[in-house]
Amino acid sequence: MPTLGRTAIVAGRSMGGLAAAAALASWFDNVLIIDRDAPDADGDSRTGVGQGHHVHNLQKGGELAIESLLPGTRGAMVAAGAVEFTQGLQTRFYDHGYWLPNRDVGYANLAASRWLLEAVVRDSLLRKSNVSLRGNLSLQDIQFSTPDRVSGIVVENEGGVSELLEADLIVDCTGRGSRVRSHLVEHGYEAVPEFAINMGISYTSAFFDAPLDALGGAAVLAVLPRPPHKRGAFVSLVEDGRWLVSLHTRFEKAVPESHDDMVRFAASIEVPEVEQFIRSAVLAGPVRSYRKPHATWRRFDKVERFPAGLLVLGDAITSFNPVYGQGMSVAWQQASALHQILAARASSGSGLEGLASEFFPAAMKFSREAWNASTLVDAAYDEVTGDTPPGAEQGLVFLGALRTLLADDPDLHRDYLGVAQMTSPAAALMTPERMARVMAAVASPPGQPGANP
Ligand SMILES: Cc1cc2nc3c(=O)[nH]c(=O)nc-3n(C[C@H](O)[C@H](O)[C@H](O)COP(=O)(O)OP(=O)(O)OC[C@H]3O[C@@H](n4cnc5c(N)ncnc54)[C@H](O)[C@@H]3O)c2cc1C
Repeated sequence: MPTLGRTAIVAGRSMGGLAAAAALASWFDNVLIIDRDAPDADGDSRTGVGQGHHVHNLQKGGELAIESLLPGTRGAMVAAGAVEFTQGLQTRFYDHGYWLPNRDVGYANLAASRWLLEAVVRDSLLRKSNVSLRGNLSLQDIQFSTPDRVSGIVVENEGGVSELLEADLIVDCTGRGSRVRSHLVEHGYEAVPEFAINMGISYTSAFFDAPLDALGGAAVLAVLPRPPHKRGAFVSLVEDGRWLVSLHTRFEKAVPESHDDMVRFAASIEVPEVEQFIRSAVLAGPVRSYRKPHATWRRFDKVERFPAGLLVLGDAITSFNPVYGQGMSVAWQQASALHQILAARASSGSGLEGLASEFFPAAMKFSREAWNASTLVDAAYDEVTGDTPPGAEQGLVFLGALRTLLADDPDLHRDYLGVAQMTSPAAALMTPERMARVMAAVASPPGQPGANP
């Protein structure tokens, strides 16, 4: 196998870091992943991924990217207990005022806890003989060999002892709290611009025991509220026959803290299905909350100078509103792009020079697509401030009218899900024929939001 370097180091072993390591493993003799959590930390002990207790929808685009970099992982997830379900047929999806039609349009997905997804991917990756993981190491600084070249990172262990780890390539995947931008400024680089949206999201989640047919045969119930309503939910069957419920809202100070609070919260959601589920289910674990006030997009592609030997991937680039379920998939799609770039460089012998200026624009295509989709919907809320997309008002009218056409148009339904599932770009919905039909629906709306099919 051609190699592009002796050692690559990935900082962060969450979905972004695992994705980056999977992309690098074919092209470096050794790939070392470091994380401040212990290598086997999971659930409560996995403090670096506080969001892991909440529903994590893996979109088809992300699943395909994982499978392309780590073949066999989908099967391993199913073997570990992930639930296979058919979008449309085994989902109840209230999408901003409309129940999506109950029909199979060709998307078979997996539902599992975030812990299962991460553990299966980590174990698949660590079976590669050139990939290793060291835990309890915190990234402290970037080491430069020359002003233009990164040659390693300084890490610190639990006892406060520092160590220099050297590599041909460093990939920062330490998530939205990444300090890579400030490290770069400290080392004389210009500030990396950041777009930010103040969206005020909070989640409250818990596991529940309920019969497997508690949703009438569906594996997932999703409620994305119709603005100005703010409260929504995900109810998902996960491994071991358990159900995970995540309630979400915006700009609320108080969060539910008990089963009774969750029932009261669910009773205020626009549609009754979530409350009905929670009332009849038995709480099977702690009630946990997580706040995410902002979504951020750091434009590493916009800086004049960026050091050789360093890349950034995942939430450290784009950290989205989680209700749209995009983060893991974007990270894996970015990693897939990295893999292809490295493959081309390995076969042409062009090495690693100028890698950042090739990788960041490729990574930003995935960030941009997901960012535009999620911030458009966020812009419907008066309280949302920051870098909302230009022309959001017209975009929202278009989207609202498009949803009214889904019930009678299976092809449009399929392509609409393709955008949500991150297998096709939003442009797929905007053919001239569809634009004309949507504009006609804007002019004469076909009726009020439908009942649950
Ligand atoms: C409530 C919530 C729900 C979500 N739901 C979904 C969903 O449904 N679908 C979806 O695709 N995405 C979802 N996401 C997003 C998803 O969690 C992330 O996109 C995904 O984990 C990829 O992020 P990442 O690996 O880049 O960063 P993170 O997941 O934040 O991981 C960062 C890693 O870096 C480590 N680290 C941090 N700092 C240091 C340091 N200094 N030194 C060493 N290690 C460090 C941490 O321990 C951690 O392992 C959700 C997010 C939230 C908040």
